[in-house]
Amino acid sequence: MSERWAVAVLGAGIVGVSTALTLRERGVQVVLVEKCLPVRETSYGNAGILSSSSILPLNNPALFRALPGLLTNRSLALRYDPLFVLRHAGWFRQFLSQGRADNTEPRARALHALISRSQVLHREWLNKAGAIQRLRTNGWLQVYRRPESLAGTQVQAGLLDRFGIAHEFLSTARLRALEPALKPVFAGGWWIRDTASVDSPGAVVDAYTRRYRQLQGVVREGEVRTLTPQEDHWQVHFAGGPALEAQQVVVALGPWSRTFLQPLGLRLPMLYERGSHRHFEPFDPAVCLQYPVYDVDGAYVISPMEAGLRLTCGVELAARDAPHRLTQLNGAERMARQALALGERVEGLSDWLGARPVLPDSLPAIGPTRLPGLWLNTGHQHIGFSAAPASAELLANLMLGRKGGPDPTPYLPERFGLG
Ligand SMILES: Cc1cc2nc3c(=O)[nH]c(=O)nc-3n(C[C@H](O)[C@H](O)[C@H](O)COP(=O)(O)OP(=O)(O)OC[C@H]3O[C@@H](n4cnc5c(N)ncnc54)[C@H](O)[C@@H]3O)c2cc1C
Repeated sequence: MSERWAVAVLGAGIVGVSTALTLRERGVQVVLVEKCLPVRETSYGNAGILSSSSILPLNNPALFRALPGLLTNRSLALRYDPLFVLRHAGWFRQFLSQGRADNTEPRARALHALISRSQVLHREWLNKAGAIQRLRTNGWLQVYRRPESLAGTQVQAGLLDRFGIAHEFLSTARLRALEPALKPVFAGGWWIRDTASVDSPGAVVDAYTRRYRQLQGVVREGEVRTLTPQEDHWQVHFAGGPALEAQQVVVALGPWSRTFLQPLGLRLPMLYERGSHRHFEPFDPAVCLQYPVYDVDGAYVISPMEAGLRLTCGVELAARDAPHRLTQLNGAERMARQALALGERVEGLSDWLGARPVLPDSLPAIGPTRLPGLWLNTGHQHIGFSAAPASAELLANLMLGRKGGPDPTPYLPERFGLG
């Protein structure tokens, strides 16, 4: 006879683990299912910023002004596979059509609701998980080589003011005093003070998983192949080993959610913004970076991590599993070496590639589907690490019929006809 659970959460990235932990804290019998432990996918390889300021959706009016430059396919910020874009032209039309001015602030509000609440929950959970030492609360620096780029931050700065997110523009002298590790190649900086970051996103996922296990949460390692609906529950089938049964299932498979849901007749409009990372030793450990830094014109983020300086590059629009091309990462390294004294690559750590799961309105899909007992928590694009705990709380409230938290409407899968 197969095991029977109240809820099976599929995927143990930051979104799945947060969901399982929240449900377990509320006394639900949960099994968390993951194909590969410890996790090494999107939630492992990101820049680790818990970014209160990432509330301006990428598809906003400024994107239209930047498009001519981006379409040359030479920018380090964005590369694309033209065939992939053509194949998904309808998706890109939808994505661009959402970038209207009147549609931007409501989506910013929805992102802010998840991210601001998650800041509180991350701190609480890191404390409970004995991993609070991984949290840095000194904000992050956005730095600009060209004065025009710095001037282009006005809309976002206005948004941060309206949402009460503390920030400060920095002269070159103030930037240098704040972060002496940066070379004088910048025209100015912007310090997002309210933001936090962690020194190892993968270790944070592991810490939350340990906390979930301490609460008698069960983890099952195995690759889920299919889900089959039964009269009042679901059967979860694996590539190997026995199936399990659950009354309710949460799909938190990040960039794998789309292909997984397809055979069930649920067409989630998800595409992928791929990105990679590489680690470096500091050239001089005495002048080590104190803040995560986003070099906007250099199109990379560099963040001090437990394993060294983690360099993450711009976005690549390509099929999720297309071969890893190193052009952007190599370009980002070139730019980063202009701005910082980077040492050698960290030995034993190879280049990493991941895929941000993106939906056309740049909001995640959180809530029920039209298939009874099947729920989604996925599509967190660039802010999954920042927004996972509150996304989990919202979903748990919906599943358990509890009130509280943000209005779920903007996140519901029914907006894509899946409800
Ligand atoms: C380069 C880069 C930098 C980023 N930087 C930041 C940042 O600084 N801050 C931030 O907030 N966000 C950042 N993000 C975005 C963030 O990483 C993602 O939004 C988030 O990790 C998505 O989490 P997830 O749990 O949905 O997906 P994932 O972490 O991908 O988790 C999905 C899990 O499902 C598992 N799985 C897949 N298929 C199966 C199967 N068949 N059976 C069982 N398990 C399966 C996978 O192994 C995986 O562990 C960044 C992303 C990238 C790529």
